[in-house]
Amino acid sequence: MSILKRKFGRSGPELTILGFGAMRLPGFRTGDFEGHLEGAVQLLRRGIELGINYIDTAQLYDAGHSEIAVGQAIQGVRDRVIISTKILPNLVSSADHFLALFDESSERLQTQKIDIFYFHGLYWKQFTGQFASMGLLKTVEKLRAEGRIGLLGFSSHDQPENIGRLVDTGAFDGMLVQYNLVDEANAEVISRAGKKGMGVTVMGPVGGGRMAGTGPDFTRLVPPEFGDAPALALKFVWSNPDVTSALSGMESEAVLEANVRTAGKFSPLTPVGQTEVAALKKKLDKLKEIYCSGCGYCLPCEENVNIPGIFSLLICHQVLGAERYAKDMYRLIGVLPIIPGRDATACIECGKCEDKCPQKIHILDQLKRTHELLTK
Ligand code: SF4
Ligand code: SF4
Repeated sequence: MSILKRKFGRSGPELTILGFGAMRLPGFRTGDFEGHLEGAVQLLRRGIELGINYIDTAQLYDAGHSEIAVGQAIQGVRDRVIISTKILPNLVSSADHFLALFDESSERLQTQKIDIFYFHGLYWKQFTGQFASMGLLKTVEKLRAEGRIGLLGFSSHDQPENIGRLVDTGAFDGMLVQYNLVDEANAEVISRAGKKGMGVTVMGPVGGGRMAGTGPDFTRLVPPEFGDAPALALKFVWSNPDVTSALSGMESEAVLEANVRTAGKFSPLTPVGQTEVAALKKKLDKLKEIYCSGCGYCLPCEENVNIPGIFSLLICHQVLGAERYAKDMYRLIGVLPIIPGRDATACIECGKCEDKCPQKIHILDQLKRTHELLTK
């Protein structure tokens, strides 16, 4: 089964609509990077074997071990795979420092050329401030002239209007932004980027895992012809013609194979399908209030508060209507092995988790709200 490919921008390479997001490989969930390296390499190779030709990683993921895993996986098949990696401008102190970090990434990836290089988590304020004063664009241009970077892009969690400003600079060949069934805030900038001939890759196509079976199961809300919730979520993203590729953070062979099957039989949403999806989106609207993807970036909490577990129960209560279940499970946090840790009352409000949340959730307020709701 072959996977549809789309051109990354006007002149870029063709990427499979399903990309392999290596953000949680090799050992994000356990912290045991070395121990899971071989398994991660095998999983990435299996993805390539199944026809995926685009893998995204970053210097920051698993403290560089994600790049190491990708670097090992592409040995012998480098010409079949498009690689992107990213460096966080916040961590860069000068152009020379950037070059040193770039060298390290290239070494870990064991490649002479990064096909697509993204500035990681770029904000407009940064781009016009510290970024400009260090002359990072010029530095990247130099790397491009030397053939060490193919295309230049940015990833961003900035406000859509600021992402639009980054698009309008004309400095980038593409961008990586969040977009999915429950969050279309970037729909307009994606269209704008498409019109400008930029490639658009999407992070969190299945809501960062919220619709992927790691959290509450949304499948029972999904009309049967769409299959399950992750399949519908991917179909929704790919039905946007300005999206080049959706990056799914696949952590198991089962999820990988399911996504490849979904990609292999993809056809855009029909008008009837769009109507059904619009109805479903209304039901999912409440998710916007609590945008927890279950990613776990807010952890560890020194007080062992099970932040993603608690928010997963909030979603069960608010979106899926499983009120009794959510309340019972909340009571059993720390008692049942499937929901370890402590409930919201253990929070000492140190605030360390909030800065780490990519969804900018006001974790402290939401923990209090969830506790009230689930103990009424
Ligand atoms: S604010 Fe509360 S939940 Fe967050 S890290 Fe501190 S104790 Fe844990
Ligand atoms: S609260 Fe934020 S960081 Fe924590 S699991 Fe949810 S989305 Fe991830």
